[in-house]
Amino acid sequence: MNPVTAVMERLAAAARTPVTDVGVKRRRSAFQSLVACLLSAQSRDANTKKAADALFAAAATPAAILALDEARIAELIRPCGLYNSKARNLKRLCRDLLDRHGGEVPSDREGLMALPGIGRKCADIMLRFVYGEPVIAVDTHVFRAARRLGLSQASTADGVARDLEATVPARFKHDAHLLLLEHGKRICRSRQPRCDACVLAELCPSARTAAPMRVARASGVSQG
Ligand code: SF4
Repeated sequence: MNPVTAVMERLAAAARTPVTDVGVKRRRSAFQSLVACLLSAQSRDANTKKAADALFAAAATPAAILALDEARIAELIRPCGLYNSKARNLKRLCRDLLDRHGGEVPSDREGLMALPGIGRKCADIMLRFVYGEPVIAVDTHVFRAARRLGLSQASTADGVARDLEATVPARFKHDAHLLLLEHGKRICRSRQPRCDACVLAELCPSARTAAPMRVARASGVSQG
């Protein structure tokens, strides 16, 4: 059996509960999902939520955010870190959405990635969780698990995303992001992977030899 298929079959079989959409990926509108994704760079989920909730309580549309001072936006989103640059990008994003998209969020990868501050990871998260497309978004947890499992040799998140897109069987694409994400968070952890408890151990070239992976601030993906 194709190794990617074997990995996905085991992860799907081992999933304790039905795969559901969680966290910042469930926002009230496409715009709020996009903003939450922008805020999530280099930030823990809980801090991203605090920042997003504070921002949306003050302003929840592109026009309303654009009406705020950049310093005020930075103050509201302070919990998620990098708040000055994120506030700047947020203003540019809102201006772009209003000027070029009538205030609506594009629904294709090219359009999303052309927006200020939005890279492939956020574009793919939007495609999967807002527009329901079978797209595998690669964040730091998916990147780490895919690399250790030998599903990709790529050194960037975008490269891993391209490899997974090409090799994961169609029937697993809808759930692959969440399956790999949960596996990376709970089992294939950065510093201490739980290989002894891993249902993939006999398939994994890194079993019991995986080195810790650190998050590189510049790229937002793990290295190592
Ligand atoms: S065997 Fe270890 S390194 Fe491989 S996927 Fe499982 S936890 Fe990660």
